[in-house]
Amino acid sequence: MKKYSLLFLVVSILFFSCQQTETKATKPKLVVGIVIDQMRYDYLTKYADRYGEDGFNRLLEDGYSLTNAHFNYMGTYTAVGHTSVYTGTTPNHHGIIGNNWYDKYLKKSIYCVTDTSYTSVGTDSKHGQKSPYRLFTTTITDQLRLAQNMNGKTIGIAIKDRSSILPVGHSATAAYWMESSKESKVITSSYYMKDLPSWVKEFNDSDPIAKYVSKPWETLYDISTYTSSLNDNSIFEGKFRGEETPTFPHDLPKLMDANGGKGIVKSTPFGNSLTAELAKAAIKGESLGKTNYTDFLAVSFSSTDYVGHKYGPNAIETEDTYLRLDKDLADFFQFLDKEVGKGNYTLFLTADHGAAQVPAYLQSLKIPAPYFSSRNFRSFLTEVSKSYFKSEKIVEAFSNNQIFLNKETLKQLNLNEEMVADIFAKEALKFKGVYKTMTAKTLQTTNFTSGVFEKIQNAYNQKLSGDVVILPDPASISHGRTGTTHGSAYSYDTHIPILFYGAGIQQGKSHKKYGVRDIAPTLATLLGVEFPNGTTGDVISEVLK
Ligand code: ZN
Ligand code: ZN
Repeated sequence: MKKYSLLFLVVSILFFSCQQTETKATKPKLVVGIVIDQMRYDYLTKYADRYGEDGFNRLLEDGYSLTNAHFNYMGTYTAVGHTSVYTGTTPNHHGIIGNNWYDKYLKKSIYCVTDTSYTSVGTDSKHGQKSPYRLFTTTITDQLRLAQNMNGKTIGIAIKDRSSILPVGHSATAAYWMESSKESKVITSSYYMKDLPSWVKEFNDSDPIAKYVSKPWETLYDISTYTSSLNDNSIFEGKFRGEETPTFPHDLPKLMDANGGKGIVKSTPFGNSLTAELAKAAIKGESLGKTNYTDFLAVSFSSTDYVGHKYGPNAIETEDTYLRLDKDLADFFQFLDKEVGKGNYTLFLTADHGAAQVPAYLQSLKIPAPYFSSRNFRSFLTEVSKSYFKSEKIVEAFSNNQIFLNKETLKQLNLNEEMVADIFAKEALKFKGVYKTMTAKTLQTTNFTSGVFEKIQNAYNQKLSGDVVILPDPASISHGRTGTTHGSAYSYDTHIPILFYGAGIQQGKSHKKYGVRDIAPTLATLLGVEFPNGTTGDVISEVLK
């Protein structure tokens, strides 16, 4: 009898210790992916003294920070960035080569997530007719769903449709975004559901934007403390329609009508506050992080991009937007601690691209920074066509810095495709603002392993891209003379923060060079699921416990 009790005891100990190891190895109940639209890496260091302890600094101190992380392709745009983060690869593989691009099969310019085979949900307009069907590969969120036999929820949230849809891939539970209209409701597509869930309807019914646009946007702190930025009244900043100067306070109630009604909120830091509110509503409404399956919430903060385009990297408006975002993040992290539980969630934060300095500002400092005019470049291409081939129909389109040749015209004129591409690649270098050019043939037959040529190659998709690729000068943009944009292969556009935090994450910092495409395989390893099917990135092992 005694013998049996001893055996029972041994078995029990073994059983419980197994249970314990299992508990230790338990995956996070929730993964939160945060992408900050247009966040340059230096926004983390430049405003460091101004951030509180519980926002960015909480991730920096308790999580793992990569200080030298980059996108490794040209075409650093929103859709491409979000897709690369979540697919672990580059546009040459995942197929999202821009926000918009010239579709050479349909012979028209298309938008990355438009899909008219679906209907809008939550609105009568066409703004919900969207899907991720142009995405060739799977996302980490798809892989998580597959690994859990479609259990666990994956939800995308952003003001921009593309920033909500692409991160959660093909098999998402849902993706929600803000309708581009005066009403600016949260909507979705019939790709995901037939009707909005009650928590989204309640969110819309509560008129969440009203409180943000009923008073002027003033600086969070006394304006004299914004010493990381240039003067408020600067000729390098854009203005809201109807404003005389680009200065605080921005009278939102007065400016609303001329600036998209309630939609004006997206061009203020309060668009980020609204996004955080929706993210919290999703966690509550969908009970995320409450089961034994891992859920995934992909949140993208879009307002930083709208503000950045209008004002540029050195404006008080940009600084104020980041200081307010820091507070929204601190509040969101506290909410996660309470709702999901500290230690039950893993979080990462990155950006979809950086931004260039305002070229007019650089010019005022004698730093070379030309403006590249796509319109003048198109006229230039027509002149080249006429002088070499006596035809204006050789170039079909110039889109996303790519020249698409008209194959029918080439056939009719009996012209060799590669010879014509070579001529355009050579001639284009004569246009002011063109730095390098490359033909499709070179990109298909040479393997570049460093520098800008590698970045051009990582953006060149054999099925989708054009016949000649143009790389504009460093520091140049195709944009008006106030504010800025992004899209290049240069470090101001590619260098972004990557921060990991929470369950399964080490504490520390690395200055080693990493790629954004490394995020997805690193998460896959943490979650014990297969990599997204186009992955070319590597696991950042020092980040993981
Ligand atoms: Zn963006
Ligand atoms: Zn942008």
